[in-house]
Amino acid sequence: MEQKFKPAKKGDSFGPSWVGFQIHVSVTIPEYWEQYERVQFEFDPGCEAMIYDVDGTPLQGITGGFGGDRRVEYIIPMEARMKGTHEFIIESSCNGMFGVPWNGDTIAPPDMNRYFALSSADLVVPNQEAWHLLWDFSTLREIIDSLPGNSSLQNKALVVANEIMNTFRSGDASDIRRCRKLAETVFGENWQDKGEAIYEGDKQAQIWGIGHCHIDTAWLWPYRVTQQKVARSWATQIDLMERYPEHRFSCSQAQQYKWLKELYPPLFDRVKEQVLARKFHPVGGSWVENDSNMPSGEALVRQFVFGQKFFMENFGIRCETAWLPDSFGLTGAYPQLIRGAGMKYFFTQKLSWNNINVFPHSSFNWVGIDGTQVLCHMTPVDTYTAQASVGDIQKGLTNHKNLESSDTSLLVFGNGDGGGGPLAKMLENLRRIRATNNHSRDLPPINMGHSVDEFFEHLMESTAAGKKLPNWHGELYLEFHRGTYTSHGSIKKGNRHSEILLRDVEHVATLASIAKSTEYTYPKGKIDECWEKVLLNQFHDVLPGSAIGMVYEDAEKLYAEVAKDGKSLIEEAFQVLFPNSVLLSPETRLQPNTSLNQIIGYNTTFLDRREIVKIPLDGASAGLKTAVAQVDNNNNEVGYAIMDNGVLDASIANGLDLHASAYTNGSNHFVLRNSSVQLTISNGRITSLIDVQLHRELIADGATGGLVIFEDRPNYWDAWDVEIHHLETPTALEFTNISVVAHGPLRASVQAQVKYGKSTIKVLISLDAVGATVKPGSRSMFRFDADVDWRERHQFLKFELPLNIHNDNAYYETQFGYVQRPTHKNTTWDMAKFEVCGHKYADLSEYGYGLAILSESKYGFSCQGNILRISLLRAATAPDAEQDQGEHQFSWAVMPHKGHFLESDVPMAAYLFNSPLHVRYLPGDKDAIAASFTNHPSFVIRGAPNVFLETIKRGEYDDFDTSSSNVDSSTTIIARLYEAFGGHARATVAIGDHFSGRVVRVVVTNLLEDEEEDEEVQILDENDLGPVLKLDFRGFEVKTLKLTLQEKASIRTQQTSQKIKKVTRRSSWVDIDGSRLVTRED
Ligand SMILES: [Zn+2]
Repeated sequence: MEQKFKPAKKGDSFGPSWVGFQIHVSVTIPEYWEQYERVQFEFDPGCEAMIYDVDGTPLQGITGGFGGDRRVEYIIPMEARMKGTHEFIIESSCNGMFGVPWNGDTIAPPDMNRYFALSSADLVVPNQEAWHLLWDFSTLREIIDSLPGNSSLQNKALVVANEIMNTFRSGDASDIRRCRKLAETVFGENWQDKGEAIYEGDKQAQIWGIGHCHIDTAWLWPYRVTQQKVARSWATQIDLMERYPEHRFSCSQAQQYKWLKELYPPLFDRVKEQVLARKFHPVGGSWVENDSNMPSGEALVRQFVFGQKFFMENFGIRCETAWLPDSFGLTGAYPQLIRGAGMKYFFTQKLSWNNINVFPHSSFNWVGIDGTQVLCHMTPVDTYTAQASVGDIQKGLTNHKNLESSDTSLLVFGNGDGGGGPLAKMLENLRRIRATNNHSRDLPPINMGHSVDEFFEHLMESTAAGKKLPNWHGELYLEFHRGTYTSHGSIKKGNRHSEILLRDVEHVATLASIAKSTEYTYPKGKIDECWEKVLLNQFHDVLPGSAIGMVYEDAEKLYAEVAKDGKSLIEEAFQVLFPNSVLLSPETRLQPNTSLNQIIGYNTTFLDRREIVKIPLDGASAGLKTAVAQVDNNNNEVGYAIMDNGVLDASIANGLDLHASAYTNGSNHFVLRNSSVQLTISNGRITSLIDVQLHRELIADGATGGLVIFEDRPNYWDAWDVEIHHLETPTALEFTNISVVAHGPLRASVQAQVKYGKSTIKVLISLDAVGATVKPGSRSMFRFDADVDWRERHQFLKFELPLNIHNDNAYYETQFGYVQRPTHKNTTWDMAKFEVCGHKYADLSEYGYGLAILSESKYGFSCQGNILRISLLRAATAPDAEQDQGEHQFSWAVMPHKGHFLESDVPMAAYLFNSPLHVRYLPGDKDAIAASFTNHPSFVIRGAPNVFLETIKRGEYDDFDTSSSNVDSSTTIIARLYEAFGGHARATVAIGDHFSGRVVRVVVTNLLEDEEEDEEVQILDENDLGPVLKLDFRGFEVKTLKLTLQEKASIRTQQTSQKIKKVTRRSSWVDIDGSRLVTRED
């Protein structure tokens, strides 16, 4: 390290916050210290630090200060002591374990100007016997404090502790020895000589101890500080493993392993050694410990695909236990996704934070929305950062909710959230507790030296594969942190828009790579880079909006990179499919005489669609102009036309049956109307919403809809929580300055404004002359495009509609399906769901009719009685003092529909609302490929409107080596489909012209794209559709298809010689509710 150092001494101050310092330390060790068992350097910089050897290999972490995380001692290696001198480097970082909060309140915004004083830098010979006596006494005291007073062990510990106090007079060596001997009355004679063998013996353990270190990938500190935390914490654990052979350490989040690999390669090698020795256990199988409310279904799949792939490539293993102890509620889609990602077990604990109801189970079968189950353990210790105290061990049993079916618990111990992990004192404490266990029945027996997977295997075996355990159906809703669906609007938008953009990139790039394999290679590496950024930002304190402002600067930057790279990737792929084409915008300059068919709409969804598009008129041919049925009010160089499945069609506009129009009385009354629906704004509020065809008023009698604002003052966790009392303070906001800005016939719009406090909310409300979808009878939707300058604090902005519709439940989209939640407060469980997470839609329906609110970037909804609401903006002040201040653009839509939600086209409309058509201008003639892609979708689903095609991508393990550009046996396409309404389906999937002749084999795989036996799908020929696949779905089932392609010429010769790796079927979909699903064993 070629750097200039200046002398430093105790008392020196280092800062400001987040700055790093390197301290070069040389120590001279007196020769006569050879006699001592241990020599250590105690270094306390008041903040976090890392010790490196002079070659830059990380040795261990330091946590200064006086919290329970304190770890300031570095044991001088014996070789150095023999040599008499030792040199090392300390890198300190001016932040504490929990960042640098103002006034020490954990969630206060950071103090950016904090300085830390170096309080110790001493070479020390610790008195090891005294150190052990400290832990002897500490364990005795915990026994006294935690056990009931009428137990013999508690009494014995009390007597012994008292005797130790009486014996420890001068504190000299002989006193200490005698005191330690007294402690053996409780721990057993010579217990310490056994070392880690103390855990041997035939005690049936009830508490399974596993070391863990929860490192929030960003929270009260930014990502780059986490990278250091990972290295510090894990180096420390490896050091502990060497001293305590029973120590096992589990750690999740492939992203953290990847950072370690890139930034601290020698330490990564040491971790890898311990992973291979089965002492350091990767768990979770995911990229980060993600939020599980808001990521899309596909994003949750990718969390596992990227996570499991990293663990397989680097350690040759896949995780078996999914691990989300700290995520703010868990979607009912998870059991199926966990099983599909090669895992069987799930560990969590956050629901112990519920602020209304106590979750009733500890070990249970979690049954997802599709009926798939996983074995779940929610530790009765109620924490993933246990201190391994006697109280924790007691709680493992006394707080277990279903002891009748299982009496084992996982003790996940070690400092965390900001990293650290187990300390030596915890391992010492556990040895003493087990020593006590060995001859006492008053403490639950604890074991060590096992993995989390082994704990679950034991649980599985001891409960007849889970059959003895209770079941929990559906989502694990966290009755807390309900504000996180809304906090930090820009991050929510970044997430949704990135997910959709990457879906489109993969779709178009896949088709381009197949259509023109000689000139275009699927950009797998670049797509993966984008995905890694999106997956990283889904971390459970980033996407929920509960991190400090610095984190959002980083997250916004990552989303901006994804947007830029994603747009250039999709543009490159479009250039392959449609050479020389450009994305059409009102500013595009058309060449003279541009014709109708030179403007195309590329549809990345599987749904037929009809919509209004904007066309520049300068350069348009007479034919193109016939398609334009309306000229823009503000810019007469731009017109509106109807695009039908991506094709401009003049005849539809001419024969229009849904003329949209806008009326005003010139002052305070505005109406948007077509022949399907009509919306009235009177005196600034939505006073009427009518289904014109049914003459049905949808707004409840005497009520009005529109924007509404609530006081939002949670009890403590500001960015996290919105509390039930906010509902008591609604203020209805009135639209003002309303004007008609488009009169129809294709689009009618009014522009409105709301001034509230220091904020300005502009909303453009539009109605188009098309149905929400192409389903016959589909009503039109009202689109709300908001442009907000938000300057409030502790206010919650929502949009609401009080409806003339009654149902005890409302529907909200979740990953790969929906979830129903109550609209009433019958029980405390119902009451708790006063603010909930939804994805692209929320719906209130009754027999015959319903209404949905669609969202393109918001995730918070509620339905209180008949009032359906979408949550738009919050304004918390901690841990980010500036949360959501400034400009926001977002949209939502109001979609009435004939028929109940289950018969409706709401999920389809919501899908389209989130997936804009790619309208492109092709200046020249189309080549054959362009023509084919213009007119034919690549996959068509028939016979099952409830089956959705979510993803088209190239196979994860395809060979993208640019030197081999031909389509060969390694060319695969992955198509992921799911059933969206919760019922069975038999779908016919037609394979489009673009590769129909080349698909030689189709198999159903798991989410990781592993082939399984007997899952080959026959390719059938159907007269009007060509090659088709017949697929059966159960409700909410997610199906992954792998299509293997070959060049037409080589199909026959290669077909028979295929050797594709198969995995044996996992024991999947074990169903505890009887025979509805098939039980299969390994
Ligand atoms: Zn966390």
